[in-house]
Amino acid sequence: MTKGRIFSGIQPTGTIHIGNYIGAIKNWVALTEAYDCVFSIVDYHAITIDYDVESFQESIMNAARTLIACGLNPEKCRLFIQSRVIEHTELAWILNCITPLGDLERMTQFKDKSKQHRENINVGLLDYPVLQAADIMLYKSTAVPVGEDQIQHVEFTRRISRRFNGKFGKTFPEPKWLLSSTPKILGLDGKAKMSKSLNNDIGILERPDDIWEKLRTSVTDENRKRLKDPGDPKICNLYTMHTSFSPDDVVTDVADQCKSASRGCVDCKKILFENLMKELAPIQAKAQELEKRPDEISDILNDGASKCSETAKEVMEEVRGKMKLAG
Ligand code: SF4
Repeated sequence: MTKGRIFSGIQPTGTIHIGNYIGAIKNWVALTEAYDCVFSIVDYHAITIDYDVESFQESIMNAARTLIACGLNPEKCRLFIQSRVIEHTELAWILNCITPLGDLERMTQFKDKSKQHRENINVGLLDYPVLQAADIMLYKSTAVPVGEDQIQHVEFTRRISRRFNGKFGKTFPEPKWLLSSTPKILGLDGKAKMSKSLNNDIGILERPDDIWEKLRTSVTDENRKRLKDPGDPKICNLYTMHTSFSPDDVVTDVADQCKSASRGCVDCKKILFENLMKELAPIQAKAQELEKRPDEISDILNDGASKCSETAKEVMEEVRGKMKLAG
């Protein structure tokens, strides 16, 4: 049986954090066993908000290094930088021409980002889902791994695929979403999504002292004002982190001790810190090792781009043919 094909991307903005690691990267590593996987560092998406031009290349290389250090094996997938395969923007333009404006204006992410970046509400921000649809469709992907908040984007892609196929003839599969079963880690404020720009994140490659300082001051169940106040692990983001990084028996113990007010939050955080570092320490060591061999990362990205270009060129030839465009 042919394997299905997956596309997923990650932005090279700032450091990759533990929310990305639990919500996406660990899942990517597992998916390479069952699918033909195409993973991209989506630099064209990253420029829809103001970014630091001088350090951008370094951020891209950092993202690649971090993904590989987290266990992504480039021999089992294609890993590349989005802008190295120019057909992404070509297909995005074509899809723009069959996308009703109203569909884009309704996207939740656009509404949220327009509030966050009031000083720079550009067309790219509105058009982001079309480029995302192009990313997915360019490889005729059959599935997209997502968190709950991204389902709307896969639905959007399915609609565009249907519309294209209806107008120009069957070309693209309608990709399904693969919902991640991992719990969603919020930012250290316990409220918003974890994000570097909101300054509520823990970077995978951060120094242990800095990670501890961030955990120590992070928000827990606010009802635990005193040691003797019982807490509710279900509403504590630190407990969610325990479920991702601590062994099962520790998670059970953390919940029991919290509900019975037998352990304070600082001690609970110390246990989490130890387990978190057990997982991050080998990743950090591998990333340091890779930093000494930048050519190796460049070779991996070049190889990924050249394999992706091959597929992209074939698909675009088919698209142009069906649309009676030149080529
Ligand atoms: Fe959260 Fe642990 Fe404090 Fe309970 S004891 S509120 S799980 S940090």
